[in-house]
Amino acid sequence: MHIPMSSPDITAAEIAAVNAVLSTRWLSMGPKIDEFEQAFAAQLGVQHAIGVNSGTSGLHLAMIAAGISDGDEVITPSFSFIASANCVLYERGRPVFVDIDPLTGNMDPSRIAEAITERTKAIIPVHAFGQPADMDPLLAIARAHNLCVIEDACEAFGAEYKGRRAGTLADAAVFAFYPNKQMTTGEGGMIVTDNAAWAGLFNSLRNQGRDVFDGWLNHTRLGYNYRMDEMSAALGLAQLKRIEELLQKRAQVAAWYNERIDEIPGLEKPYIAPTTTQMSWFVYVIRCGAGVDRNSLIEHLGEQGIPSRAYFTPIHLQPFYQQQFGWRRGDLPHTEQAGDTFLALPFSGVMTEEQVEYVCEKLREGVAQA
Ligand SMILES: *Cc1c(COP(=O)(O)O)cnc(C)c1O
Repeated sequence: MHIPMSSPDITAAEIAAVNAVLSTRWLSMGPKIDEFEQAFAAQLGVQHAIGVNSGTSGLHLAMIAAGISDGDEVITPSFSFIASANCVLYERGRPVFVDIDPLTGNMDPSRIAEAITERTKAIIPVHAFGQPADMDPLLAIARAHNLCVIEDACEAFGAEYKGRRAGTLADAAVFAFYPNKQMTTGEGGMIVTDNAAWAGLFNSLRNQGRDVFDGWLNHTRLGYNYRMDEMSAALGLAQLKRIEELLQKRAQVAAWYNERIDEIPGLEKPYIAPTTTQMSWFVYVIRCGAGVDRNSLIEHLGEQGIPSRAYFTPIHLQPFYQQQFGWRRGDLPHTEQAGDTFLALPFSGVMTEEQVEYVCEKLREGVAQA
């Protein structure tokens, strides 16, 4: 049985939507991006949504809006996908990593205060695996120190924190639509904010620095080509129309896994915090107990044709972060422990219960051997 690590959930509706755009010959800066942005903003309950060509580009533009420049410090977790820290480097700032809560894998808000200096400008919490970070204490610290907060909500579309939607909790938030995310546009991302000035800035920055009143060859500021094309927007719109179904199917697959992982000694299912009033399943990540060697387990599964991976590999241990900033193993114990013991299993909304059963059967064997 071949089981992919992840898979998008594409139906005839998505295929028809993309084909319809191609038939119009209007492939960029057309009506679909406007329609997708409006529908996305309405779905989330925010004032402005600005489509971009990746989550990473969205995070980069958010750093510009937050005013990050040479040597400014941004507090963020190392236990994340690398883009949430790289975006700080793009503006020549310095990511300052704080350790995580070992249960949720999210930034531990009680460690933020000690990381603040006179150079600190912003905080980027990451909602890891689709579970919102503990935002209330984080927002209180940010308010007290006058810091910008940008949510990296790239893994958390549909999640809720104490009944409030992830992506609506701070100054701005960024979502991503790579094919393994809860909804996809192929490549793509969305910045959301209630700040009208920022929305205008994002519009200009993604479009080569043109302002609304600029002609095609007038550029008010340094900008980028971070635009989302019309096929991607149409695909996103079709996925957004199915979003409840997409999220529900992922929750069902997670429930199938949960039941079975509970029965395997040495493995623990994902921990869901009481503040998470709605989990949005992005990946399914288990943790290996003291007696189980995670890497041997990856190898065992691989031999049975089942992909799985260490998730995340801490950012501060990536070679160029170690070189440039001198981070070392030992600096962030909880992050490193998670990096050594967390294991992402194959996961998507189109997985069948039979596939989950097969993965868990091989896991049980692997644990007995590892
Ligand atoms: C997916 C993701 C991003 C953005 O990824 P892109 O591939 O650039 O769309 C950013 N941060 C996190 C935590 C992610 O998981």
